Amino acid sequence: MRKVLKNCLVVSEDLSIEKRDLYVEGERLVDFVEGDIEDMNSMIVIPGLINTHTHAAMTLFRGVAEDVALDEWLSEYIFPRELKLTEEDVYIGSLLGFMEMVKNGITTFVDMYFFPHAVAQAAKDIGIRGIITRGLANVDGHGSEKLKECEDFIHEYASDPLIKGGVGPHALYTCSNDYFKESVEVAHSNNSLLTFHLLESPSERNNFKKRSNIEPVDFLNSIGAFDEKTIVAHGTHLNNEELKLLSQHKTTISYNPTSNAKLGNGIAPIPQALSEGVNITLGTDSAASNNSLNLFSEMKFGSLIQRACKEDPTIMKVEELFKMATYNARRPLPFDIGKIESGMLADLVVINPNKLSTLPKKHFYSHLVYSFDTTAIEKVMIGGKWIYDGDFCTVDICEVMERFEKTVDSIDSRI
Ligand SMILES: [Zn+2]
Repeated sequence: MRKVLKNCLVVSEDLSIEKRDLYVEGERLVDFVEGDIEDMNSMIVIPGLINTHTHAAMTLFRGVAEDVALDEWLSEYIFPRELKLTEEDVYIGSLLGFMEMVKNGITTFVDMYFFPHAVAQAAKDIGIRGIITRGLANVDGHGSEKLKECEDFIHEYASDPLIKGGVGPHALYTCSNDYFKESVEVAHSNNSLLTFHLLESPSERNNFKKRSNIEPVDFLNSIGAFDEKTIVAHGTHLNNEELKLLSQHKTTISYNPTSNAKLGNGIAPIPQALSEGVNITLGTDSAASNNSLNLFSEMKFGSLIQRACKEDPTIMKVEELFKMATYNARRPLPFDIGKIESGMLADLVVINPNKLSTLPKKHFYSHLVYSFDTTAIEKVMIGGKWIYDGDFCTVDICEVMERFEKTVDSIDSRI
């Protein structure tokens, strides 16, 4: 399949804009090809956004519990419901989550949940790219089965163009130290992405130290958990020395500002992390703790909360935020994504700049971060295929929404 997208205003990673044509052959951008011509009429084209921390199926729990602390939120509301979930529930929850992401310009995700095959089926049905990590915990005594399922999934999807498996030990407080170490070994032996929640809430450091008599980051470092293929989710309470260590190991942090703020977990030390040279990406976390799956709002809020907190309007520059949502995710992920260039995967978001919130067009540069309304998104391409063009090209939205609502009622009846 060959496509020529004529008259695009292409946004680079430094947010400069250049008028040019784009050429797509198969799943990639190429220098030149003759093919079906589509005139983009000077629409803005940006690389697809990359959501480096999510639990897509948790759309099923959006709004289920508000105004409670993380411990209570997990133990009283989320974990009891998750125990009742079926594979089909996870499929429909993930599908709705991926639809929301695509509509908001997200073309790649890193997900941690269970029933990885159901998550993969949902992703393939809509056509979104992603890393699926089977969430791992051994507090219930079924750790080995989960780890085997995780490794089998990695092998099964090794040559899939859209989906790859990864390893997701949930957190130090849901995994024993030995189990965490085993999980890290599985990630290394399969050359896979490793991702886990770390120091998300204020109490995690002391609880771990009491249990293990060692600092959490020192323990993780001793088992080789930090490298270029590791994404630490949150890292809200990392100190400067720990940020230095992450930088030395080229480890990535997924900054989830809305989820951290909503759950009262604090503000991640992102300006410090940037000055230490840590690679920062953005994540929404789940629709239960966010409650949206929208990286444009993460860029804006992620900047504003740091500026307010530090009383400094010069930090968290527009270009830095845009790179966090796109280019920076290339380092840990096994896909050629995050920038618009020949040879890269054709994951594109087409934006109509003629909207109230994106005028004046000549200052479009900062609108992507500070005034963007995702209704300006006209089309989304993933791997050379249009997935969204004002309507979903691959799934029937009405059918999905109806099935989703029935699923939520059914889960509630099982509690
Ligand atoms: Zn999470």
